[in-house]
Amino acid sequence: MPPTVSDLVLVLQLFLPAGLSIEKAFYLIGVIISIYPLLRLHINQRRQPHQPARTAWTKTILTLLKAAFKSDSDEDDLVWATGMDFTPDDFAQRICDDLEPLYNMLGLNPQNLAAQSPGLLFPTPRRILCTSRLSCAFCPVADLNIIPTLRRRVDNQTVWILDESFCWVQADLVIAHCATCRADYFPDRITYKDANGRRRQKLELSTDFLRISKHGIWAHKKNRPFPRTRCSSIACRVRKLTYRQSQRLFVEHFSRRLLHFHKRDNFSCDAHPSTKLLAEAVRREIGVNGGFLESAMAHGCTNCTHLKRYRSDLAAEGANFGDAQGVAGVEADGGSNANAPDVGENPFDPPAQQDAPPAGQPRGYVRLAVMDGKNIPHQKCALDQCERPLVNYKNGRFCEAHLNLQDVCGIVPCGLPVQSPGALTCATESHIQWHRDYSSRFARLSFPGVRRVIRRQQEHSASNGQHGPTLEVALPPLGDTPGNQVVHTFKAKSTYCLQTVQWACGYPVGWGKCYRSESSPQVLGILNRIWANFPNFKPSFVAYDDACNLLRHIITQNPNDPWIVTTKFIVDAWHYINHRATDVLCRLWCNPAPKNGSQPDLVLVEEDSNGIQHETRAFNTETAEQLNSWLSGFESQLRHMSDVNYDFYVHVLLMIYAERVDKHVAAKNLQLSEEFWAEATGE
Ligand SMILES: [Zn+2]
Ligand SMILES: [Zn+2]
Ligand SMILES: [Zn+2]
Ligand SMILES: [Zn+2]
Ligand SMILES: [Zn+2]
Ligand SMILES: [Zn+2]
Repeated sequence: MPPTVSDLVLVLQLFLPAGLSIEKAFYLIGVIISIYPLLRLHINQRRQPHQPARTAWTKTILTLLKAAFKSDSDEDDLVWATGMDFTPDDFAQRICDDLEPLYNMLGLNPQNLAAQSPGLLFPTPRRILCTSRLSCAFCPVADLNIIPTLRRRVDNQTVWILDESFCWVQADLVIAHCATCRADYFPDRITYKDANGRRRQKLELSTDFLRISKHGIWAHKKNRPFPRTRCSSIACRVRKLTYRQSQRLFVEHFSRRLLHFHKRDNFSCDAHPSTKLLAEAVRREIGVNGGFLESAMAHGCTNCTHLKRYRSDLAAEGANFGDAQGVAGVEADGGSNANAPDVGENPFDPPAQQDAPPAGQPRGYVRLAVMDGKNIPHQKCALDQCERPLVNYKNGRFCEAHLNLQDVCGIVPCGLPVQSPGALTCATESHIQWHRDYSSRFARLSFPGVRRVIRRQQEHSASNGQHGPTLEVALPPLGDTPGNQVVHTFKAKSTYCLQTVQWACGYPVGWGKCYRSESSPQVLGILNRIWANFPNFKPSFVAYDDACNLLRHIITQNPNDPWIVTTKFIVDAWHYINHRATDVLCRLWCNPAPKNGSQPDLVLVEEDSNGIQHETRAFNTETAEQLNSWLSGFESQLRHMSDVNYDFYVHVLLMIYAERVDKHVAAKNLQLSEEFWAEATGE
């Protein structure tokens, strides 16, 4: 007969003090079962001759039991203090001495070495998926000052869940609802009727379990698409997470993470949307074709934010002021091109030098942001000038507005109807032939093939002193037009680049996309969108490899643009050395570390081990560039995505990277101290 409750009661009475808390008692019973394999090893060892009554196994058992009896709660301490002469160690000793009879009372026989050790004592209870709320989240306080309470809506349903250890188990789903407003409360969402009678939903942001299929399949949010170990239960061998379900899990989980990160607690969308519609709704909320991280506005750490410095600070450090065109840390001395030709008028006067505030007054602080474009595109309409997304990302070529061009010859500007439905050209023989050449030479290149061609061209053009990767596949001319200048719509085109802005420490600030080229108007638009609502949080410096042209564009379109007052746009040292001779604006304004003391924030004086002073750059932008290499690891996934998934994914990547920087700042103690803020702002 298997052991029963009365056997368990007897064990508890014999081996544990009556005043012990239930929680501690259960814990100790669990520990007693977990040491079972050690007792088997002890018994097995004793089968050999001349073995002691207490083996080293026994000693370990006693040590573990004593440790388990050690309490960390005051209540348990009280138990030992009241009366009895037994200490926790005495109880541990008694259990150790009588372990075999104890196991026998629980129906186990350790002498039977052929039998396996028992599994966990407490089988995992069947889970119940249920809202964590008690009352309606929409209804106001009603009678008796009570917010309408939640009622059970329908009988519980059996569902499958993929739990946190990647096991398929059955669970009971219970749905609650509000009898007043008819909102339904699922564990991961609330659905309700809006003022127009449409069914909407709000997401529960802190739920552990997410519905990943309409057919009663749920998953723990911690699940990764690929489990490390395989479990042997029947359910786990039979059930598989489908691609659609893992997509769903990704979007459900990161929708909640993004909404929480961007503080959009009030987000709602149509009830029970498809994966695509949910991603679309969240993207509309967080940012379409770009975005910013509000958390970045107030971010500061020692890698990106410094106390404001003044020329007198540099002088005090013993700087030898040199030439305005010298770059600190790059050239041994002034090093600039002294007889640079005068190239036209100075577009505006150099800034007046500020004096350091008197001691005790706030010094102010400066932050440096880094901006660059990455070759991480996604597909868009086949018309060069059109920036709209494709209707069909599987094999489509056009956006919604240009869908009718499917029926027009793909060679621009032919304009004749296609020769037959689905054909890419009209019936003109030369157009048909050109398309045939095109497909045989170009369209069949796989993605790795295209990369190989680009790499070969880069090597080739580098040796010719040209730069910029372009995919040039030799195409025959069409009439008088050289092959590579034939304009056609045979395949979807791509966005030009992903533009990101991050603080010097790498913390992402915002992003956008460029089309056709990384042009200054588009880049300025991205900067304006990022800081539109945070004009007081603009960076003091933006390091950008085309800063001089960006600055020229800003001045040209509006000489009073606020950017001119708030921010210095600087180029990298390599660009500066090459450009200062021919571009007066670049020379005067974009030096990344001028040696004449005009930008004390950008230059530090450091002493080397020989006591020789060197001027170095105050901000290290290499950390900011680590974001680029990290992002490029996701390039091949991103370039195959629809515009919606691309944006959703970039939002997720930048959020994750921001959290990584936060962790790094905390771990390395890079936070700005109270003293820093006192000195910077006087507060
Ligand atoms: Zn399993
Ligand atoms: Zn209600
Ligand atoms: Zn920082
Ligand atoms: Zn279009
Ligand atoms: Zn044609
Ligand atoms: Zn320049």
